Amino acid sequence: MIEKLLERGGDRVESADVCVIGSGGGGAVVAAEIASAGRSVVVLEQGHHWTRADFVQREDQMLPRLFEEAGMRQTVDGGVTVLQGRCVGGSTVHNLCYAFRAPEPIVDMWREEHGLDQLTPRSLEPSYRRVEANLRVKPIREDEVNSLNRLIRAGTEKLGYSGFVTHHNREGCVRAGYCILGCSYDAKQSMLVTYVPRADRAGARIYANARAERIEVEGQRVRRVLGSIVDHSGRSRGSIEVSAPVVVLAAGAVNSPDLLLRSGIANRSGQVGNNLHLHPSVMVVGIWDEPIHAYRGIPQSYYIDQFIDLARDPHSGTVLMPIAGFPVLTAVNLPGFGRRHFEHMRDFAKMGGLIVLLHDRSSGSVRNGSLGRPEIRYALEAGDRRQLAEGLVHGAEILFAAGARRVVVPTQPEPLVLERGDGLSAIPSEIGEGDAPITSTHPQSTCRMGGDPNTSVVNAFGESHEVAGLFITDMSVFPTSLAAPPQITTAALADRTAHHILARWLEFAV
Ligand SMILES: Cc1cc2nc3c(=O)[nH]c(=O)nc-3n(C[C@H](O)[C@H](O)[C@H](O)COP(=O)(O)OP(=O)(O)OC[C@H]3O[C@@H](n4cnc5c(N)ncnc54)[C@H](O)[C@@H]3O)c2cc1C
Ligand code: SF4
Repeated sequence: MIEKLLERGGDRVESADVCVIGSGGGGAVVAAEIASAGRSVVVLEQGHHWTRADFVQREDQMLPRLFEEAGMRQTVDGGVTVLQGRCVGGSTVHNLCYAFRAPEPIVDMWREEHGLDQLTPRSLEPSYRRVEANLRVKPIREDEVNSLNRLIRAGTEKLGYSGFVTHHNREGCVRAGYCILGCSYDAKQSMLVTYVPRADRAGARIYANARAERIEVEGQRVRRVLGSIVDHSGRSRGSIEVSAPVVVLAAGAVNSPDLLLRSGIANRSGQVGNNLHLHPSVMVVGIWDEPIHAYRGIPQSYYIDQFIDLARDPHSGTVLMPIAGFPVLTAVNLPGFGRRHFEHMRDFAKMGGLIVLLHDRSSGSVRNGSLGRPEIRYALEAGDRRQLAEGLVHGAEILFAAGARRVVVPTQPEPLVLERGDGLSAIPSEIGEGDAPITSTHPQSTCRMGGDPNTSVVNAFGESHEVAGLFITDMSVFPTSLAAPPQITTAALADRTAHHILARWLEFAV
């Protein structure tokens, strides 16, 4: 049963074996796996239950429907925009379907440097397999690579750089290109059309418009979750209470630490909300002589990994990914005002970009702000600023090699416009907050896993070191930046936690 509590109104008191907070990349998997094993499950999801009929392919309507703070969530200094989902299915509803496993050197580093002896590629294999089967992960076919991705591939190969066509989780994709606004064709195999319906069929009670606001603990055991029924702007319209011996927190790497701090639990290490990594990214834009209609077809199918060598250094590097904007998002990311801005936007059909995504060493924090608006702080270290700038140089180089006539580096306050044949030395040698629009679509690591309860929040199975019956299964558990698209690893770790809970059920069910 998926119920939109906003339409019912009133107050709710429930009990279940397991209460899951959040229905996105981690929460939906746990709910489906545990409900399928016969346990009673309640899912609390703060966002609404939108479906394909609601995905109208317009930015003005879809950003407020699908994104936290209508897509305007930012760090407190405004330096980084943090995009996260706020709906049944979470960020998987508007993500771009790159489907990667965690790079092996990262898993090795997590095991060796974070005391996670049980986290081996072999132990993760069954979870990855289940997740990939349920999300129908497969290679992107050659005929599915769109014009922008083809051009970028040609430019990358011309320069002798390394890149490849990726795997994705789409089935019956009609290549409409609207993935970031939700898929009107149910082709994107997001949680909304995979694990959430599976949890529903298995009997889970899935409540939309239900925001968890406090987790209560008695005698170091989790007892219940208290929250509000909320409208689309987060205003309270009633209360909800769920008693459960097991609570699985999967509210994303910003809201999960916010909720733990609000509840005053699971933080003896002082690490809840620390170690925030963002995979900060900056876009560099190419303008071709003729329209390339980069916004048609699958937005991202190619991936450039020339500038990251995790076997050599698991702590740094950049990857580059093609990107095509919608009009509003493009306009927001192109600096300049008035006529200058208009001149850039006039070339919209001839435009295509590359995102430079940083595997960040830099870290920030999440602390309680007003309800629904946690305070996010983040500052790039000097080495990371230099890497982002180097990434922009490589991005510009690849765009020119791909045939772009002009490249726009969105420096602030004035964009840097380079013409074909110009050198690239005018690109600044460091890029930090305020120097260019920086976006994060992968906030992570704020409740990190680790073997040592003094330096981490959960163990290798997502179980709180401190509170019995409390688990975390979202991107907040990654010990460091993942250095790759995170949805499949988030889901695989959640699957692993679900099976751990089921295998040890008698310990928790008291
Ligand atoms: C624009 C964009 C593109 C992306 N593209 C890719 C990609 O191509 N490939 C890839 O691997 N990854 C991609 N990602 C990342 C991917 O979507 C995430 O890895 C994944 O969704 C993370 O799962 P999660 O459970 O941590 O968080 P989410 O999926 O964000 O789920 C968290 C859920 O918790 C809910 N919630 C929050 N607070 C509360 C509360 N207090 N009470 C109740 N519910 C609450 C939220 O509303 C949300 O539904 C992208 C992300 C974005 C934003
Ligand atoms: S490109 Fe495919 S997955 Fe993306 S919105 Fe269009 S049909 Fe859906």
